[in-house]
Amino acid sequence: MRHRLEAELREAEQELQELELQLEHTKPEFGLGTGSTGFDEWEVNMLRRDTVMARIEALRSALARLEEDQFGRCERCGAKIDPERLEILPTTTLCAECARKARSEAALPGAARSRVGPRR
Ligand SMILES: [Zn+2]
Repeated sequence: MRHRLEAELREAEQELQELELQLEHTKPEFGLGTGSTGFDEWEVNMLRRDTVMARIEALRSALARLEEDQFGRCERCGAKIDPERLEILPTTTLCAECARKARSEAALPGAARSRVGPRR
């Protein structure tokens, strides 16, 4: 598992580097008023960079948990996470049961509203 996480981390870091380069090259020139050439691509790359950075974060913390022998344990209930689940989602910190609960909590209308915040 460690090997796999390390390989995925390296891959993600490389992807981030490439994205940073692309962002550098496709930087939109604001204030010129000549349309949005390059802007869409830049925006997409920014979003992709966020995703890759989140993945790097998740992989690093998975490796740290591996180090502390906490890997494969549910953050919420402390139960052992199903190895099959870890196979698919090596960076998960929740067992299937808690993940399901977390999902249904997030889906509650109240929770969604509080995330969006008050409308002006
Ligand atoms: Zn759990």
